[in-house]
Amino acid sequence: MKFNNIGIVGLGLIGGSLALAIKSSGVSAAVTGFSRSPSTLDKAVRRGIVDRCCDKFEDGLHELDFLVVATPIGKIAGYLSRLKDSGRGGILVTDVASVKMPVVADASRILGDAGNFVGSHPLAGSEKRGIDSAREGLFRGRYVVITPDGNSKQENVDRIKSFWKSLGSIPVILAPDEHDRLIALTSHLPHLLAYSVMYSMLGFKDKKKLVACSGKGLLDTTRIAASDPGLWAEIFRLNRSELLYWVEEFERCFRELKSDLAEGSFDKLEDKLASAQKLRSRFDEERRYNEEDS
Ligand code: NAP
Repeated sequence: MKFNNIGIVGLGLIGGSLALAIKSSGVSAAVTGFSRSPSTLDKAVRRGIVDRCCDKFEDGLHELDFLVVATPIGKIAGYLSRLKDSGRGGILVTDVASVKMPVVADASRILGDAGNFVGSHPLAGSEKRGIDSAREGLFRGRYVVITPDGNSKQENVDRIKSFWKSLGSIPVILAPDEHDRLIALTSHLPHLLAYSVMYSMLGFKDKKKLVACSGKGLLDTTRIAASDPGLWAEIFRLNRSELLYWVEEFERCFRELKSDLAEGSFDKLEDKLASAQKLRSRFDEERRYNEEDS
C-alpha cells in the first residue's frame, strides 16, 4: 500500500474512473471524494466508488497524503489555492488536465517552493462525461503523460510515475510545453476535425436521410464530436497557439490532397493515402507492443 488516503476532487468520467481504479489496485487504503454537486457525492458513496465524501473541500484535507484534481481545467487553480490556504499545500498533488502549461505554471505560483505538485495527463477517456460514465479499467494499458517542470522534485516525479503504473498505465515523461505541442497534434486537432466534419453536415437539410445513409466509418471518425463542447472549447482556448500551428499544417496537407483530387492526379493521391495508411498501421503495431510490455 503506497498511500493511506487519496483525495479526488471532481468525480466525473476521469475522477470517478480514477477512484474505481485506485480501489481495485489497492494502491491506497482509502479514497476520499470531493465534488460540487451533492447528487454526485451521493452516487459516489452509494456505488462504492469512494470510501467517503466531503461536501466541503477543506474538511477532508487533513486526512489525505495525496490529492488528484480532476475538475474542468479552469477550476484547478481555485482548488490549489484552497489547499494552500488550508495549510495542506505541502502534500503530494497531481491533476489530469488535457493542457499542461497553464496548470503547471499555476501550481508553481500558488504552491511555491514548499509545494509537491507534478502534473499528469492520462491519455484515456471518452466522449462521455459525469460519474455515471466512470469505469474501473479506463487507465489500464493507456499512456499517461507526466509533466515535471524545473521546480519538480525527482522523488515526487517517481511517486507519481509509480502511482500511475499501479493502475496499469504506461507513464511517459514530457516537459509541459512539449506535451502541449504534441497533444495539440494527437488529440486537440482530431477533436477539432471531428467537430468540423459534423459542422459541415449541418447544411444538409434532410437529416433523416443523412442519418440513414451514414455507416460505421462516419460514426468511428466522429465519435469524439459527441464530447462536451464546454470542456473542448476550454481546451482549445488554453492551447490555442499550439493548436493553430497544427491546424495550419493540416490545411497545407489537406490542400495537397484537394489539388490531387481537383487535378485528377489519382496516382499521386494514392501514394499519399498509402503513406497515411502505413503510419496508421504503425500506431496499432507499436501500441500493441507497448501494452503487452506494460
Ligand atoms: P466530467 O465528466 O464533466 O467531470 C468533471 C467533474 O468536475 C465533475 O465531478 C463535476 O462535478 C466537477 N466540476 C464541474 N464543474 C465544476 C466546478 N465549477 N467546480 C468544481 N467542480 C466542478 O469531465 P472529465 O471528462 O472527467 O474531465 C475532467 C478533467 O479531466 C478535465 O480537466 C479534462 O481536461 C481531463 N481529461 C478528460 C479526458 C476525457 O476524455 N474526458 C481525458 C483526459 C483528461 P459534478 O458532476 O459533481 O457537478
